[in-house]
Amino acid sequence: MIEAVVVVGLSSFVAGFGLYAASKKFSVEKDPRIEEVNEILPGANCGGCGYPGCSALAEAIVKGDAPANACPVGGAELAEKIGKLLGLEVDTSVRKVAKIKCHGDKEKCPPKYEYYGPADCHAIVMLGGGNKGCIYGCVGGGSCVKACNFDALKMGDNGIPVVDEEKCTACGLCVKACPRNLIELIDVEKKFIVSCSSKDKGVETKKVCSVGCIGCRLCAKNCPEDAITVENNLAYIHAEKCINCGKCEEVCPTKAIIKL
Ligand code: SF4
Ligand code: SF4
Repeated sequence: MIEAVVVVGLSSFVAGFGLYAASKKFSVEKDPRIEEVNEILPGANCGGCGYPGCSALAEAIVKGDAPANACPVGGAELAEKIGKLLGLEVDTSVRKVAKIKCHGDKEKCPPKYEYYGPADCHAIVMLGGGNKGCIYGCVGGGSCVKACNFDALKMGDNGIPVVDEEKCTACGLCVKACPRNLIELIDVEKKFIVSCSSKDKGVETKKVCSVGCIGCRLCAKNCPEDAITVENNLAYIHAEKCINCGKCEEVCPTKAIIKL
């Protein structure tokens, strides 16, 4: 009996020691800088950076899989701190905010039907392609407003969301929440946007919305910086080239281009 106990005890000891030795041999040392970066990240775990949480982003930054300015909540100040900690050059010159690429409210883009269901844009879009005359336009269910953790979006009186640029952290949650892809993160300093997302031919767009882009190219022809291209009947302002001169807004016949 005693012999059996000794044998079992010894075997357990040998197995345990083997496991310990193996864990020591194959363990991967965690870079201590990951914890240092994690400590200065905001801890919001909002997912706006595309990683499941702040610690995952910290690891990605230290490994070089994400840039030092990947945290939209911390902004330029945090990016600089991380850059200093890791000895990296960080470009903090551009602060982006959410901009809404539709301003076809109920008057400008009359609804196809009155919707009385839950305030959820995905649900509205599922119902006959949405309540709006334009199949690309904002359906006003406020999913983006609900998605924002920073109180930076409010539903306007006209049923189109409004961004508070001071509060917007460019976390991108509203971008993901919009089933119509109407929200883009754009340099806050760029004041002119094509506030329309319709890819229909001009004549079709005109039938459903009075402020839609009709793809006439007048803006592109008049832009002194060649900052505008028109594809699929829709103009797009390339923020990196735009100098905020406002020529495009002046010439747009439908007022699809607006100043924010
Ligand atoms: S504001 Fe001026 S530079 Fe910018 S896109 Fe319009 S016309 Fe071009
Ligand atoms: S001028 Fe206005 S309507 Fe014409 S392409 Fe530009 S944004 Fe669209």
